[in-house]
Amino acid sequence: MSNKMRVPMAEQPVEKRVQDFSEVPFGYTENQAVSEAKRCLQCTIPACSKHCPVNVDIKAFIKKIAQNKFKEAFLKIKESCPIPAVAGRVCPQENQCEGACSLGKKYDPVNIGKLESFIADWAMKNNIKPKLEIREKKLRVAVIGSGPAGISCAVDLRKYGYAVTVFEALHKAGGVLQYGIPNFRLPKNIVDSELKYLQDLGIEIKLNLIIGQNVTFEELLRQYDALFIGTGAGAPIFLGIKGEELNGLYSANEFLFRTNLMKAYLFPKYDTPIIVGRKVGVIGAGNVAIDAARCALRLGAEVYILYRRTQEHSPARKEELRHALEEGIHFIELVNPVKIIGENGWIKSVELVKMKLGEPDKSGRPNPVEVADSNFSMDMDTVIIALGTTPNRLFLSRTKGLHTLNKGSIWVNNEYMTNLEGVTAGGDAIGGRATVIEAMGEGKKAAETLHNYLSV
Ligand SMILES: Cc1cc2nc3c(=O)[nH]c(=O)nc-3n(C[C@H](O)[C@H](O)[C@H](O)COP(=O)(O)OP(=O)(O)OC[C@H]3O[C@@H](n4cnc5c(N)ncnc54)[C@H](O)[C@@H]3O)c2cc1C
Repeated sequence: MSNKMRVPMAEQPVEKRVQDFSEVPFGYTENQAVSEAKRCLQCTIPACSKHCPVNVDIKAFIKKIAQNKFKEAFLKIKESCPIPAVAGRVCPQENQCEGACSLGKKYDPVNIGKLESFIADWAMKNNIKPKLEIREKKLRVAVIGSGPAGISCAVDLRKYGYAVTVFEALHKAGGVLQYGIPNFRLPKNIVDSELKYLQDLGIEIKLNLIIGQNVTFEELLRQYDALFIGTGAGAPIFLGIKGEELNGLYSANEFLFRTNLMKAYLFPKYDTPIIVGRKVGVIGAGNVAIDAARCALRLGAEVYILYRRTQEHSPARKEELRHALEEGIHFIELVNPVKIIGENGWIKSVELVKMKLGEPDKSGRPNPVEVADSNFSMDMDTVIIALGTTPNRLFLSRTKGLHTLNKGSIWVNNEYMTNLEGVTAGGDAIGGRATVIEAMGEGKKAAETLHNYLSV
């Protein structure tokens, strides 16, 4: 095989994978990983790391893989990324490290994501863990929320020597990694195993505690020397059209929460049921929409993604979009729902209007514009809305004095400090870029800010 193309990765065949929730790519073997790593040009000034929000030394870890030094490769990644098996699987590498890979200018970029998950999985199987010497400090920091932002902030604070307690509202830690992203993309044993690292470091994780409800924000301010808020953005945005109150309509968050966290896909073994009709329409085409669509498909439905732009403008990871299309999900471009029509309280159909692409908007993508008199209907039993989320208002309404922006995102300065002294925030709660790795990057920077604050 030439250096031009990536070492291909085997995947579960489509006919099998649409029937279960097990992971789709099989991962590289040791030999495949070494061959792929050998494609790396080892650039003098590597652009890949600069495009990684947590600055993983990509060139160095890939070199170690190429030399068969897997343990050293793993320890190198772990210096900057606390959850590499997760990041390797879900980062949008095509817009980050792999998008900047020099080899990618002419040929396939190095498969950095799959090399990262390979090495993390290898370390898990071989029980390799970094040995850290922590110089204990007497100060205590509370981290609210155990998603990627909270995880990376907690790990770095602990490495600085602080006693760290993470407070999590749910019964499982991990945030979206646990409740949003389905098992076929991110197996939950992988998430649990990477989260064990926090406990190994001596970070305390308190589950089932909603800050603002079970414990007040003021109590935390009194009990801890500093705080990080990584509460994410779990409140769904709806369309605001007629018929959204009908039975059979879900926000993507509720649908994924039931399916993944509460294991509705294993009903009746687990006791959370989920109703999925024969025909399901998913509104939106980002990662969340694609995840919801692929879950609905696996639960037995015929699934239609209804998107107001064209497929090339979908913000979803390319790999997920490819998988969804291979699995038989229909992608209907240039349509926008205007009404959901019901019968006896249940969804019967969706009225859509055709769209065309107009001038670019702030994001640089063409603005979709309605085509006059182009309304038509599609029969549907279930509609899943995946149009984005905002931070949870309950938490914000109970944190007196914390400044927020108009959509409820927490205001922070360039160093992730909020207007309250010693309180930082990051991730989706500050209206971040809504990726796992950006949230982790912000958690890291906030940890550094708190360290500087606590060191004076
Ligand atoms: C379905 C889905 C698929 C996605 N796919 C991708 C992908 O492929 N790649 C990618 O890079 N990004 C993806 N994202 C986006 C990414 O997951 C988020 O940007 C990232 O998880 C944000 O991390 P966070 O730590 O800020 O918040 P979260 O992951 O949302 O974690 C916040 C945590 O805080 C907890 N919490 C909230 N309020 C309180 C409170 N009052 N007290 C205690 N705990 C509280 C929540 O329960 C939650 O566990 C996806 C998101 C979703 C929903």
